[in-house]
Amino acid sequence: MSKNIGPVCKLCRREGEKLYLKGERCYTPKCAFERRPFAPGQHGRTASRGGRGRSGRESDYLRQLRAKQRARRVYGVLERQFRRYYEVALQRRGLTGLNLLQILESRLDNVVYRLGYASSRAQARLMVTHGHFVVNERRMDVPSMLLREGDIVSVREGSHELEYFKVLGEQADARTSPGWLNKDTKQLSGVVQRLPERAEIDGSLNEQLIVEYYSR
Ligand code: SF4
Repeated sequence: MSKNIGPVCKLCRREGEKLYLKGERCYTPKCAFERRPFAPGQHGRTASRGGRGRSGRESDYLRQLRAKQRARRVYGVLERQFRRYYEVALQRRGLTGLNLLQILESRLDNVVYRLGYASSRAQARLMVTHGHFVVNERRMDVPSMLLREGDIVSVREGSHELEYFKVLGEQADARTSPGWLNKDTKQLSGVVQRLPERAEIDGSLNEQLIVEYYSR
């Protein structure tokens, strides 16, 4: 599995907004965007802010590109895979943009994060990769696995004894989960009840612009 490497806080600074990629740290004064709310690099203070040119105006293309890049970074997906998701979304019935967001939301790493068993998608991805989760009682270490209605995700039996997982139930209780997931923090598990509705997905993502980007 390939992934974005390098300082993730730079992604927020490049986007010109907080993407909340580092879990708890994002809510503290240590957040890099709070301290340096401008693009990284030599010309960061004067050049692009959220994809704007020096004139401050954005072309349609730039807005579409920024929307696509932003979604990619939020979910931690590389370009090739993101485009593949778009193609699958295109083939499904219904609105392509919503289909795309539902595909992204149904990734195993995202579901673990949404259930409150990780403080960020990056942490969820790592935990899945290390084999701490089972899907329908089968060990699964592929974060990009797409879950379906009725799938059950749980912490692997052998991982319950690890310090992190001993207090995970309490932590997950304190984190709210969307209505399309049903979590059982005592068992450290969760069920995908259905696909999420648009209102249950990050409202700052602009799927229409993403569809326009790929339809050019
Ligand atoms: Fe972004 Fe979080 Fe880093 Fe702040 S701490 S810049 S929100 S990833």
